[in-house]
Parts: sequence; C-alpha cells; structure tokens
Amino acid sequence: MPAIKFKGVDFIQYDSLLTEEERLVRDTTRQFIEDNLIPIIEECNRAGRFPRELVKPMADLGFFGASLKGYGCAGMGNVEYGLMTQELERGDSGVRSFVSVQSGLVMYPIYEFGSEEQKQTWLPAMQKGEKLGCFGLTEPGFGSNPGGMKTRARKVGNEYILNGEKMWITSGSIADVAVIWAKVENENDKIRGFLVEKDRPGFTSDDVHGKWSLRASVTSGLSMQDVHIPEANLLPKTDGLKSPLMCLNQARYGIAWGAIGAAMSCYDCALQYAILRKQWRDQPIASHQLVQDKLTWMISEITKAQLLVLQVGRLKDAGKVEHQHISMAKRNNVWMALECARLSRDILGANGVADDYPIMRHMMNLESVKTYEGTHDVHSLIIGQSVTGIDAF
Ligand SMILES: Cc1cc2nc3c(=O)[nH]c(=O)nc-3n(C[C@H](O)[C@H](O)[C@H](O)COP(=O)(O)OP(=O)(O)OC[C@H]3O[C@@H](n4cnc5c(N)ncnc54)[C@H](O)[C@@H]3O)c2cc1C
Repeated sequence: MPAIKFKGVDFIQYDSLLTEEERLVRDTTRQFIEDNLIPIIEECNRAGRFPRELVKPMADLGFFGASLKGYGCAGMGNVEYGLMTQELERGDSGVRSFVSVQSGLVMYPIYEFGSEEQKQTWLPAMQKGEKLGCFGLTEPGFGSNPGGMKTRARKVGNEYILNGEKMWITSGSIADVAVIWAKVENENDKIRGFLVEKDRPGFTSDDVHGKWSLRASVTSGLSMQDVHIPEANLLPKTDGLKSPLMCLNQARYGIAWGAIGAAMSCYDCALQYAILRKQWRDQPIASHQLVQDKLTWMISEITKAQLLVLQVGRLKDAGKVEHQHISMAKRNNVWMALECARLSRDILGANGVADDYPIMRHMMNLESVKTYEGTHDVHSLIIGQSVTGIDAF
C-alpha cells in the first residue's frame, strides 16, 4: 500500500487552541521523526535495537530536558513539551520512553533535588546527549508499591554504601549515571535519591531479553553489591517517597501526550488502508458501516484525549496541576491508544499483524506503557482516592 504522508489528526480545529510556538515544536518534531525514525524503526524493532545514532540529533533539537530552564535546556512550555512527546511516540514508544527517562526521570530530579555542583556536572552534558541516565525505582519484589523497596544505603564516614537490586530499568545498561532510590539506614529508612555512576565497583547491569514490547528501548536489571559513592552523590533535597513520585508525575505527563501519538499513527494507518482496501463488489472497506463505526470511535476518542491533556498542560503551565489530573490523562489516553491499536489492527485484517505496518508494534509497546509509571489500575485508585477521600490501595 503506498504510504500517504502523515498530516496529523485534527477533527475540531484543535490547532486553533495552540500557539504558533507550540505548533512549531510539534511540526519540527514530526519532521524529525518522519525523516529519521520512521525509515529505521521496524528494523530496530525486529532486531531489538535502540537507535543510538539518533541521540545526538535529538539533543541538537533540544529534546532532552526540554522543559527545564538554564543549563543549555530548551525551556519549553508544558504544552510544547507534550506535543514533542506526542510526535516522538507517533514514531515509537521506546524512543519516547528514552527521552522521557533522560528528561523527566533523570535530568528533572537532578534539577529539582540536586546541588548546584551536581547540576553543573550533569545537566549540560545530558542535554547534549553526551551523558545518558536511567531511573532505578522498581525492584523485583516492589513495582506498584515502591515504598516497600529493599535497596538500602548506609552512611559510613563521608561515603554511602549501597546494596540492592532494581528491575525493569529503561536505558539501564547504556546509562552513564543511574538515579537510584534507596532507604537510608541511618535516617530511619527514609527514601532518598543517589547518583550512581556506572563504573562504580559493585554496580552491574543486565539487559532483559525476549521482550515483546518496547523492543527499540533498552530495559535492564541493576545490581548493587557494596557500591561506595561519595556523600556528594546524594541528591540533597530528596525527602521520602514523595520525591520519586514527583519525578513520576513529570514522566506520566509526557506519557499522556505520547499515547495520543501512538493512537494517531494507528488511526491514520487504518483510515488510509480502509479507503484503499477493497472487498465485496469492488468497494473500499471504508464504505461498510461497521468499519466506519471503528474509525468514528477512534477519531472521537483521540479528540477527547487531545482536549484532556491540553487542559492538564495548561494547568501545569499555570502551576495549578494536581497529581490526580495527570493520573486521569495517563490512564485514559493510554487505554484509548491501546483500544485504537486493537481496532486498527482489526481493520487491516491479516496485514495488521505484519510489521509492514506500524500497528502491531504500537500495540505491543502500549502494553508496557499501560503498566509502567503507575499501572492503569493504580491510576484508577489514585483518582478514586481523590474523589472519595478513601485510600483503596
Ligand atoms: C518496558 C518497561 C520499562 C520500565 N522502565 C522502568 C524504569 O525506567 N524505572 C523503573 O523504576 N521502573 C520501570 N518499569 C517498571 C514499572 O514501573 C513497573 O512494572 C510498574 O510499576 C508495575 O509494577 P510490577 O510490574 O511489579 O507490577 P505489580 O505491582 O506486581 O502489579 C501487577 C498487577 O497487579 C495490580 N495491582 C497492584 N497493586 C494493586 C492494588 N493495590 N489494587 C489493585 N490492583 C493492583 C496492577 O495494577 C497490575 O495489574 C518499567 C517497566 C516496563 C515493562
């Protein structure tokens, strides 16, 4: 099927709600993805290869730490940042995950909780893509409930000694530095964040193989056996579980936008296919009511998701966003995107399962996106707690 260039999905003149700068960020990112990622992504996905060659060009466009101010960062508004992640994820959730981790889960905590020296050491280099980071919160035994973590830090003299295991860590083995969350024994097991460089003795990483999701992203386990780090590697303003949760809020916000990109890719592909594919009396399958119903569902849900996340972004810019707003956007938009992937796959029939088309890759990716950064059900509980005042975890 000849591919028609992606023109975006805008049913209700949504673009009129965006500023010129916001549209420019979106269009620049879209062009970058079209020129650089779309031509190689299926090969990367098949091979389970992270397209590392795109790190420098992405840095040059200001994608890393894009919403931070200073230290060479682009200082984008939250809607600009969101539109960027949307376009990245239209390309691939794995590549968007890489950018989200580098930005929201590594640069953000250094920016928010770090000393000036830590900021100067890491942020400009990470912005340029010269240094990569990962975020170690999840453990083999503690995912949705990270507060139960077993990783411990013990202060001895002017050092901390870290012991523990982290699991499912995006960019784990390619990162130069890991933000590791650990309970500090000398502080009544308070959770604090540490910067652990990958060459510290006792620190090792092992990649997860056999993933059917986010294949273009590196996912690793991290192990720390008596890893000594100087006390200057403690992120000094981290203060309990709320600190990593603040990081997750940043990343979840980007995911809520990103999922729309994946949904748009699937919808666009299914729409083009339905118009060209003929069955029965030489008519396009798009002429059948049931196919139109699926396309209608998708365009309606994508449009609602766009409005939801735009309002959340505007609230974030105004400093008024609450974590439950971000939970609603993440939960709804990822669910919506996964449903779009399933309906689109269905419209493509047998072709839908082949990687000549992006749909099955998006569908498999979105299964991880549904689980990480708070599962769909955990976000139900966060919203439920917000509306009832009752903790149901
Ligand atoms: C590809 C990938 C990349 C990842 N990258 C990172 C990363 O970079 N850094 C990092 O720290 N982590 C990362 N994660 C881990 C991710 O955040 C966890 O997988 C997620 O938090 C869920 O934890 P879990 O897998 O242990 O599932 P569990 O917590 O065991 O949950 C399993 C099921 O039980 C449900 N459940 C759990 N508690 C409740 C409850 N109270 N009520 C109702 N249902 C409940 C869940 O909703 C889910 O359906 C990644 C995961 C994946 C798949």
